[in-house]
Amino acid sequence: MTVIFMEFPPNIDAIRAVLPLTGREIFAYGGIIYNPSGCRIGPELVAHEQVHFRQQGTRPKRWWKKFLAHTEFRMEQELEAHRAEYWAFCKINRDRNARVQCDSLPAWRGDYF
Ligand SMILES: [Zn+2]
Repeated sequence: MTVIFMEFPPNIDAIRAVLPLTGREIFAYGGIIYNPSGCRIGPELVAHEQVHFRQQGTRPKRWWKKFLAHTEFRMEQELEAHRAEYWAFCKINRDRNARVQCDSLPAWRGDYF
């Protein structure tokens, strides 16, 4: 079961200092999905955030620090999460036409971390 809080993560100030936010983002932090805007979170997004939970292990604070400081690390971590998200999406949407729409999912613009 996934725990979702409708609030900002504890490190929101550090995130804001590095990433331009639109206000619709969701954040993975220590096993909790922070969803301040209360947007819909589908199973493919949960799959994405679950990868970040695993990446963070028991040290989410440390992971976030590295994630914000190192662009390459960020890309690498996001790539792994997007891959899991894509496969979750494909599992849910077995129809090939639906899969094509994957490219136009708002999530792919990187509104979640
Ligand atoms: Zn992510």
